[in-house]
Amino acid sequence: MIVQILAGLAVLAVFYVISLHNFLLFHTMAELFSVIVAGGIFMLAWNSRRNIKNGYLLFIGLSFLFVGAVDFLHALAYEGMGVFPDLQGANAATQLWIIARFIQAVSFLAAPMLTGRKIRTGPVFAAYFAVTSLLLLSVFQWHNFPACYIEGVGLTPFKKISEYAIVLMLAASIYILHRHKDSFDPGVLKLLYASIAAIIASELCFTFYVGVYDPFIVAGHFLKITGFFLIYKAIIETGLVRPQDLLFRELKQREQMLYRSKMEVEAANGELRQFAYIVSHDLKEPLRTVAGFAGLLKRKYSGVLDDKGREFITYIMEGTKRMDELISGLLAYSRVGTTKRDFAPVDMAAALEKAVLNLKMAIEESGARVESGQKNLPVVKGDATQLVQLFQNLLGNAIKYRREEPPRIAIRAERAEGEKNPAGCEQMGQGWLFLVSDNGIGIRSEDYERIFIVFQRLHEKGKYPGTGIGLAICKKIVERHGGCIGVKSEPGKGSTFYFGLPD
Ligand code: ADP
Repeated sequence: MIVQILAGLAVLAVFYVISLHNFLLFHTMAELFSVIVAGGIFMLAWNSRRNIKNGYLLFIGLSFLFVGAVDFLHALAYEGMGVFPDLQGANAATQLWIIARFIQAVSFLAAPMLTGRKIRTGPVFAAYFAVTSLLLLSVFQWHNFPACYIEGVGLTPFKKISEYAIVLMLAASIYILHRHKDSFDPGVLKLLYASIAAIIASELCFTFYVGVYDPFIVAGHFLKITGFFLIYKAIIETGLVRPQDLLFRELKQREQMLYRSKMEVEAANGELRQFAYIVSHDLKEPLRTVAGFAGLLKRKYSGVLDDKGREFITYIMEGTKRMDELISGLLAYSRVGTTKRDFAPVDMAAALEKAVLNLKMAIEESGARVESGQKNLPVVKGDATQLVQLFQNLLGNAIKYRREEPPRIAIRAERAEGEKNPAGCEQMGQGWLFLVSDNGIGIRSEDYERIFIVFQRLHEKGKYPGTGIGLAICKKIVERHGGCIGVKSEPGKGSTFYFGLPD
């Protein structure tokens, strides 16, 4: 910081020495400095126009091309330069100066109102081009721009009033900018304030001078250089060195907001999980009492009760058994999310093998054939226990929901192909898709989504026992792995359950 200030002062000192020896050279250099900065700001804004969501910066950026262009003409038209032989004296240069300052002040005034908006560069550019051209024509061609400097008399009232108007507009622009301060990085904002303040001070100097070579002019140009240097710091340096503060500030803010809502959702989810866990855990206790006493009643007082009484007790005991199953299911469901995410490479062929082993009884009883066309299912990153459970639930269902013939279950894996993935898995991106096909009773398409919801079953428990939690657990497991799950089926022929796991 100190080095930068010293360097800045050194530059100003060089400018000052030059101003003492050759004012024209000083003036040309000072103006060229602001022309170069203005050009740089324009180029930065123009090339990032598709990314800049902050209309302020884009608008200022576009306007600076025209400010810089008119300042350049001002430098060339300065008395003594001799570039435009037709324009004698200091009037034209002063007119051009005023035009540049008006464009700049109006731009600073309008820009804060565009802060949150997306501006269309084409029409803005065209408007600036039209207005600037008309003003230049009024100086160079039509000679009807109000006189700003009269030889021997000095500055005209028009020029002085214009400078005050410009100062007022710039001051107002600081105020309006301040009201939109939330859209800016605090560092950039400070630099913008300082820059506009320096330009205001510079304007005030130019209302005081009498001759074209005057100490106020030197001071005014120093302040203008300072103002443009600060704009350079605010826009060019920040834009190139810390683009996230300037151009992608919205992106950064959105990212922070997203992060915050993610944390909130996670906290809420955590509470909910805790709640489900505690409730299902605590419900077991009174249930055990009911079941226990119903059993006692049946054993000890069977003789006292009539047939109806014994039948009722059987209902109570069946009900408690069912409720116990449901609560256990719920407990298992709520546990899927509570265990710590501890992902490691999992060989899916081994996971399948384990699931088959756990289902050995059911497989033998039903005469099911489980075949994995690919001996080598891929290795994925995940929670091994849960992936075994996933296979086990799907295989278990394939066996349970069979038709008369013995179940045949095929498991295979294929690379996920993004949007070409089956329903529900389009968003997954790169990964593996696992497919478990059976030749069972099938599912109607209108039930494809319902079956993944807790307690949703398609059958009375008589024919197919179950709680309706198995697939809900499967869904929770794949979602915990960042994946997806779905089913395709032909009723009466069989179903294919698929789940995707991202890389
Ligand atoms: P449960 O098997 O305990 O009823 P699930 O959540 O595992 O609970 O399954 C929900 C419903 O989806 C089942 O009731 C059944 O109707 C249907 N279903 C699941 N798997 C299959 C399958 N392989 N074939 C036919 N229907 C199935």
